[in-house]
Amino acid sequence: MNLVDLYKDLCKNNRWYDAYCSTGENSNGKMLYFLNTNYRNLWVFETGYNVFKEIENIGRDQWIHNENHGEEKEKQHTVNMLKSKIFSRASNKYYRNKKGLAFGDMLDSDFSKEERWIIIYLTILNGYFANIPNYINVRNNEIVNIMEKRGVSREKYINILKDFIYNCDIGTMEIFMHDYLYFDSFYKDFENIDFLQMFINARDDERRELKEYVQNQPRNREITKEETCTISYKYKSTGSYVKSTLVDNAKIQYYSLILLNNTYKNYEDFIDYALFKYSEIYKNIDIKKIKNFIKNHEAVYKLIYEELFNIIQYSLNFREEKEVNEQDVNLNEKIDDTDVNSIEKYNKVSTVLKKLAKANSNYKCELEDFYGCQYFTSKESHKNYVEVHHLIPRAVGNDFENSIEVIENYVTLCPHCHRLVHLGEDVERKPALHNLYIKRIEALKEKGLDIDEKQLREYYLIEN
Ligand SMILES: [Zn+2]
Ligand SMILES: [Zn+2]
Repeated sequence: MNLVDLYKDLCKNNRWYDAYCSTGENSNGKMLYFLNTNYRNLWVFETGYNVFKEIENIGRDQWIHNENHGEEKEKQHTVNMLKSKIFSRASNKYYRNKKGLAFGDMLDSDFSKEERWIIIYLTILNGYFANIPNYINVRNNEIVNIMEKRGVSREKYINILKDFIYNCDIGTMEIFMHDYLYFDSFYKDFENIDFLQMFINARDDERRELKEYVQNQPRNREITKEETCTISYKYKSTGSYVKSTLVDNAKIQYYSLILLNNTYKNYEDFIDYALFKYSEIYKNIDIKKIKNFIKNHEAVYKLIYEELFNIIQYSLNFREEKEVNEQDVNLNEKIDDTDVNSIEKYNKVSTVLKKLAKANSNYKCELEDFYGCQYFTSKESHKNYVEVHHLIPRAVGNDFENSIEVIENYVTLCPHCHRLVHLGEDVERKPALHNLYIKRIEALKEKGLDIDEKQLREYYLIEN
C-alpha cells in the first residue's frame, strides 16, 4: 500500500484519530508539554504575566471578581507562571520575583515581537515544566533520541527544523508541504504502528502525494471527524492546535538543539552565540539592545545559564559541609532563587541545615530500619559518613508558598540509600520514598509544606 492510502486507512481508526488530534496530557498530539491550548506560542507568557500582574499580592479569594467561564482567568496561567519561575507565591498571594521583574522590564521596553520571542525563550529555559528541571533541554534530547532510533541523525533533524523555520513565513496551507509537520504530528508511534517511520522510508513522490492530499483537505469551521483526515482535523480553523504552536515548537527545538549541546567559554559567550544564531533568521533584531537588556539583568540570566549547564549541582552533592558563620544566616527568610545572588545565600542556609540534620539523626541513615545500612567513618567529621537529601526537591521549590529550606525537609541518608532515591528503578525508589514520606509528612505540614504522596512521586518522576 502506498503512503497516502495507508494514511487514509489509518484515519478511519477512531482511536488513532483521537490520539493524534488531541493535545491532552497523555495523547500524541503535542511534543512540548507547556505548549497547549492556553500557551500556543511563547508570547502567551506575556499574557500570563500581565494577568498575574493584575492580581499581584491579591489573595486568591479576591480573584473571583475576574471570573470567566466559571473559572478564574488567572488559574489557567498559574502552572506556567510558577514553573517558569516568573512569579512566586507567599501567603496565598503571587508576586514577581527577580526574574519576574526582569520580564516586566522587557515588556516595558519597546522590543519588537521577534526580539521579545528570544528574550522569553532565554527567560524560561530553566523552567521545570512537567516537574522536570531544565525541561526544554531534557525534552529536546528525548525527541532527538526518538528520531535517532528511526535513523534520523541529530544533524538531519536540525536541518528539517531549520528548513521549516526559514520558510514558515508562508500561508497556512503551506505548512502541510513541510516534512516537519509530519515529524511533529507522528513523533510517537501508536500501538506498534509507526507512521513516521513509514513516512521516512517512503519515496519522495509518495511523500509529496501525501502532503498534497493533506493540503487539499478542508479545514473550515464545520469540519467533522467523519472527514477522516487527522491532520486537517487537528489544524481546523477553530481548533486548539494552530500554526503558531507548530512554528514555536520548531523554533524552540531548533534553538535548543544548537545552543544547549554546545560548550561555551562563559556566560557572555553563551548569550553572544544565542543572539548570533537568532539573528541569522531574524535579520532585523537589534542585538545590541537585547544584550544591553540582558546585561542590566545579568544576575537573573547568569543563573539561567548556570542551571542549564549544570554548573550548579543541587543533587547528589557529597562534599562535607564547609564552616559557616551561623550569625550570617537567616533561616527564616524565603530566598528568591531566581538570580545568581541567591546561590550564596542558599549555600549558607543549606550548610547550616545539613549540619543540623546530620546531628539530629545522630549520623544514622533514616532508612536504616528498612535497609540495614552500613557506615564508614568520615575522614573530615570523624562520624558516620552520611549525606543530606531534600525530600521535596530543591528544583520545585517555587511550587510552595513556604520555603522548603527547612530542617523538616532535610533527610539524612547513607550513600547507598541516597543513590537509591535518586538513581534506583521506580519499583525500588517508590517504597524508599514512601518510608521517608511517612516519617516526615506531619513535620512538613507544620511548616506549611502540605504535600500528598502522589504529588511527591510526581516530583520524583515516578509513575503512579
Ligand atoms: Zn538527594
Ligand atoms: Zn541507608
